[in-house]
Amino acid sequence: MRGKQCTSRERVPISPCFSLDDPNASGCLRLPVAPACNIQCGFCSRTFDLGEELQGLSLTPEAAVEEVRSRIERGERVSSVVVSGPGEPLANAATFVVLRQLNCLFPELLLGISTNGLLLRDRLEQVVADGVRSVAITISAFWPETAKRVYSRILYKGRRYSLEDAAEFLLRNQWQGMMLAVDAGLHVTVNGVFSPGVNEGDIPLIAEKAGQYGARAMHILPAPGEGLKDGAMPDEKALAALREKCRSFFEDR
Ligand code: SF4
Repeated sequence: MRGKQCTSRERVPISPCFSLDDPNASGCLRLPVAPACNIQCGFCSRTFDLGEELQGLSLTPEAAVEEVRSRIERGERVSSVVVSGPGEPLANAATFVVLRQLNCLFPELLLGISTNGLLLRDRLEQVVADGVRSVAITISAFWPETAKRVYSRILYKGRRYSLEDAAEFLLRNQWQGMMLAVDAGLHVTVNGVFSPGVNEGDIPLIAEKAGQYGARAMHILPAPGEGLKDGAMPDEKALAALREKCRSFFEDR
């Protein structure tokens, strides 16, 4: 079954993961219940793994479920709920609490997550068991050398790794996660964070491979480039051209 698609926004507040999905898209509600992250992206302003500056942007599991309940009781149209940001959903236990409760209370809702993919293959079984039917995976590097520029560190099973050591591991996990999610029957999309001067060559390669793997669409989000974080954002023309180029890999979906 296809999940409702949330659309990209053009602004990056603190972490791109906080803005990948539009909470105002028709019927799609984004729940930011995940302050911690297990990756450090060079274009993201949060600090590694603690996510303290993102706590204030997060909802508690209770508040998140209550938000959904009150909207439904007010008669608002809520057809899909995506657990998305402000950090990494699969690195936060709160994500699974919320998904389980929503799946139990509102089984008609289409549940989704937006993930950086590092833990997707490890947590997929649990994700599916908790009723998730759509997954958006953010992949911003195709080549390990690009990954070393886009990301600086990952946290995996309690250990920190620099991307010098873990670039191939991260990319392998992201693609395996995508392949397994498609095989599990989930509606899979890919998000690419476009940093000019860093990964414009990688984004079309990601789109092509994701299309071959069975992803349904790609959303491209602009972010600072070159030296990252304080670098220039992509201009509208470059962003539009890249989106147009990548669209062709998903046209039949
Ligand atoms: Fe920020 Fe990257 Fe973590 Fe998203 S995955 S919250 S962009 S560090």
